[in-house]
Amino acid sequence: MQRVVLHLDMDAFYASIEQRDHPELRGKPVIVGGAARRGVVMTASYEARPFGVHSAMPMARARQLCPQALVVPPRMAVYAEVSRQLMEVLGSYSPLVEPLSLDEAFVDMTGAEGLFGAPEAMARALQASVRERTGLGASVGAAKNKFLAKLASDLDKPNGITVVPFGAEVAFIAPLPIRRLWGVGPKAAELLGGLGLGTIGDVARCSEAALAAKVGSGLAAHIHALAHAEDPREVVPDRDARSVGSETTLDEDLRGEAAVWPVLRQMCDRVARALRKEELCAGGLRVKLRYSRGFRLMTRQCLLEVPSDDSAGLGNAARELLERFDLEEPIRLVGAAGFRLQTSAATRQLDLFGEKPREKRSELEHAVDAIRERFGDKIGFGS
Ligand SMILES: [Mg+2]
Repeated sequence: MQRVVLHLDMDAFYASIEQRDHPELRGKPVIVGGAARRGVVMTASYEARPFGVHSAMPMARARQLCPQALVVPPRMAVYAEVSRQLMEVLGSYSPLVEPLSLDEAFVDMTGAEGLFGAPEAMARALQASVRERTGLGASVGAAKNKFLAKLASDLDKPNGITVVPFGAEVAFIAPLPIRRLWGVGPKAAELLGGLGLGTIGDVARCSEAALAAKVGSGLAAHIHALAHAEDPREVVPDRDARSVGSETTLDEDLRGEAAVWPVLRQMCDRVARALRKEELCAGGLRVKLRYSRGFRLMTRQCLLEVPSDDSAGLGNAARELLERFDLEEPIRLVGAAGFRLQTSAATRQLDLFGEKPREKRSELEHAVDAIRERFGDKIGFGS
């Protein structure tokens, strides 16, 4: 299925809230930040930006550039409350919302075309709902992955909607400067500039080996993939919500499914046990692997058909997720986590409508837990 990822970023978030709440500030250059001599600009309204004022700038410098600006001290509690409303709106569109900060988030809308229409219509609906709830403007990017969606939301601020055309992503990003690639800071940009690379298209045409010679193999692989519009990272919801996880750093790097799977199964086993101990079931399972090369961390996740607290249920899901990783490269860390937690009692309610076998298996595993408590972890279970 074609993935559809939206990235929503509020426009001049703190300053816009101040203008919303204080009509006398509207249409004027407003700077939110500490007014003290050594204060820093947190956000500048769009009226202040043409003067060269931007966030993270020393306040003294901002005042020089724009003496008529109205400086307002931050009200973090208010901003946090607006952020909560924002995330609530996004959550009404998709269960897969990944906040990046108070004022921006990814929303995975894959499979929602039937409900909301094409990606552009989804973006418009999201933007309108956010304005309706918060009274504030946002810019939205829509694309087939996170990298592109985030890049897009920044291309037409404020109040912009940018869709990276599906199927023509590589051509769309080719003319953009390399600094738009995630992970390319000033230093890497300078090194790549030494190769004569100025645009993303230049990076796409360059061989990965040539990039690696300049910036190292980890970053080279990363930006080469991005320049080809590839970014496999999934939208990971509830970053701060509770999950029950277990992970292990391997003594020796492993590669190949036959080697990785037994470790992953053991992690699922531990997660299942931890869930049962707390009388919880997981509605989703996340698998993460860290590659040795470049320390890249990859996660894959899925929702379970029936929330589960047993090794077999989690293990089956984990095995399917494992197939979605590249297992040819050496792996140094394996982890699994259950998320979307709910009480076992709530899950058993569901079971009244069928699913007896699952409950039986859980009973068996509860018995095994009891034995393990007494005899330690050495006892194998199932296969
Ligand atoms: Mg913003």
